Parts: sequence; C-alpha cells; structure tokens
Amino acid sequence: MPWLNRAELNKAELKEAGLKETDELFKVDHIKIVLVNTTHPGNIGATARAMKNMGLFHLALVDPLEFPSGVAVGRAASALDILENANVHATLQEAIADCGLVIGTSARSRKIPWPVLSPEECAEKIVRDSDRNRVAVVFGREDRGLTNEELQLCHYHVQIPAAEQYSSLNLAAAALLICYEIRRYALSRLGQDSQQEDDYWDIEWATGEQLEQFFEHLETVLVRLDFHNPENPRQLMQRLRRLYSRVRLDTMEMNILRGILTHMEFHLDNPQPVTGRTARRRESSNDKAIQAKQKKRRQRKDFDEAAQNKRSLDTMVEILKEAGKMGEQEENGE
Ligand code: SAH
Repeated sequence: MPWLNRAELNKAELKEAGLKETDELFKVDHIKIVLVNTTHPGNIGATARAMKNMGLFHLALVDPLEFPSGVAVGRAASALDILENANVHATLQEAIADCGLVIGTSARSRKIPWPVLSPEECAEKIVRDSDRNRVAVVFGREDRGLTNEELQLCHYHVQIPAAEQYSSLNLAAAALLICYEIRRYALSRLGQDSQQEDDYWDIEWATGEQLEQFFEHLETVLVRLDFHNPENPRQLMQRLRRLYSRVRLDTMEMNILRGILTHMEFHLDNPQPVTGRTARRRESSNDKAIQAKQKKRRQRKDFDEAAQNKRSLDTMVEILKEAGKMGEQEENGE
C-alpha cells in the first residue's frame, strides 16, 4: 500500500483505500513494522496476522531468509494483503530511510544503554508521532535479535518486561504485543484533546536517511580533525549517535549542523593565517617569554664576569638579589 497523505483524503477516499473510520484513530499508514533477517517464514505470516488484527498495514522485511513463502501464507490467514504488499529491503537503513521516528525492540539491555521505553510509552510516542511522521518499529532475528549497530539506528528501544528467567518472546508474539499497545493507546486517546510537545513541533523530524548522511559527514570531519581515529574508534560514533538520537533533531537543526561541518571542511581545505586579536595576543606573549629569557642570559653573563673580574662581593650580592626577585616574579606568573 502506498503511503497516503491522510490530511488530503476525505471519507469516501478513505473507504476506497480500504480504510475504515476507526483507522483514523491513528495514522495507520504512517506506522510500519520492520522485521530484520527473519529465519522462519511462519513468523512473518503470524506477524502479518497480528498487524491486521490490530489495524496496521505496512510490513517491511529486511533480507528475509525465505520470502515469499507458503508457510507465511498459511500463518497469515486473512492477512494475505499485508504479505502481498510487504516491501523487501536489503538493509535496515533502507527500510527506515523515510521514517522520522524509529523504535527498536530488544529482549535484553546492551553494552551502551539507550533510552528504553515501556511498551505503553512506546505506543504513545508512536501514535502521537504518526500524526505527522512516518514511524518504524523494528524487530530482530529469532536467534539473536538485533545487532548493536542496528539498535543504534533507533531513537528509542522498547523492552517488554517479561520474566527475567526467560525474557525472550517469540518474534510474532512480541509484534502482537506492541501492535496491541499501539491500538490500545489510540483507542484511549479517542475524544481526548491533549496536546504534547511532539504534536505541535513546527519543523519535521529528520528522517533515518538524513541522519545517516549526517553521521557519515560528521565522521569524515572528525577524522580530518584528527579527533577520531577509525583504527581506534573507542565507541565514539556510537556515543555520538546516542547523543543525537536523544535530542531528536528536526530537519532545520540537521541542516544547521551539516552547514557547520561543511564550513569546517572549507577551513580545513583553506587554512588561513591567524589574524586580529588572537594573533596579537600570541605575538605579545611570545615577546614576553623571549624578553625574560634574554634578561636571564644577560644576568648570568654579568655574574660570571663579576666573579671573573673579582669585583666586589657587594656587586655580586646585588646581582644575585636581582635574579632572585625575577625568579619570584616568574613563579607568580608575572
Ligand atoms: N535472543 C534474542 C531474542 C530474539 S527474539 C535477544 O536476546 O535479543 C526475536 C525478536 O522478538 C527480538 O529481536 C525482538 O524484536 C522481539 N522480542 C522478543 N522478546 C522481547 C522482549 N522481551 N522485549 C522486546 N522485544 C522482544
């Protein structure tokens, strides 16, 4: 099913597009469920069914092991349309490129902790965001979930608070639970008129694709600045990813950051001599240091001369006193 601009559809067109009025609860066509590298086609079918039960339509599959598949069709029951319209992508980046909010699901906490939502909080964010944005909820492989790199492409993580002894749900069961929470929140919002920050933000959120381009640009510049060494990365890029996902950039903020990076690149390509106040300050501090060294050298020479010429002890004491004063001055940073 193509993305629909709900604001431009009237009720008749909604019907024609196969959407019922209750689907207005939330922008169902703005929410997509993404399954990454699914091994068992039965899970794809069962997820399609769960989605249809909960009024969702968009299924995206990233590099599934077996698809299309008779097993998936069998498990989908009356949700065949969802399977038929599923988009298959080579990478997760491609699947979320058009999304302004990406939520990753995970049964366990990871090395670099990310902002974690409960299923209820996640549903609220998704429904509110889907009024204006495209949103993706990402599910991982049956055996090992999502990789750290994949989880780091997400703004938030959601963890279903399952029993600690065995917290890993079946993939389609986890998808059903999240889809159910989304519907439940949408139903509970009916008739409510509360506004939250996200509802009236003036600028569109940056999409997954724009974020990827930004991170690539940022990394290139950090390498050129010798701030980042790709051979010894020490999780720098992961931590920056987490920082920017927490902030959640809109497109204007993203353009400002890209502009700053481009300017930095320009100045790296065209190094300019330091001028103005900075240059004068550097010069004068250099001058002071040189003068102090020269004075010390002169005094040592005077002392040696005085000693050699057997000049009076008084003169030598005078010179020593003078040198002592200077040493103090230097220590006090004068
Ligand atoms: N062993 C894997 C779990 C894979 S289960 C791991 O430790 O991550 C397959 C997928 O179902 C997960 O990638 C996730 O998308 C979803 N899932 C299973 N249990 C979950 C839970 N408790 N919370 C959130 N998502 C869960």
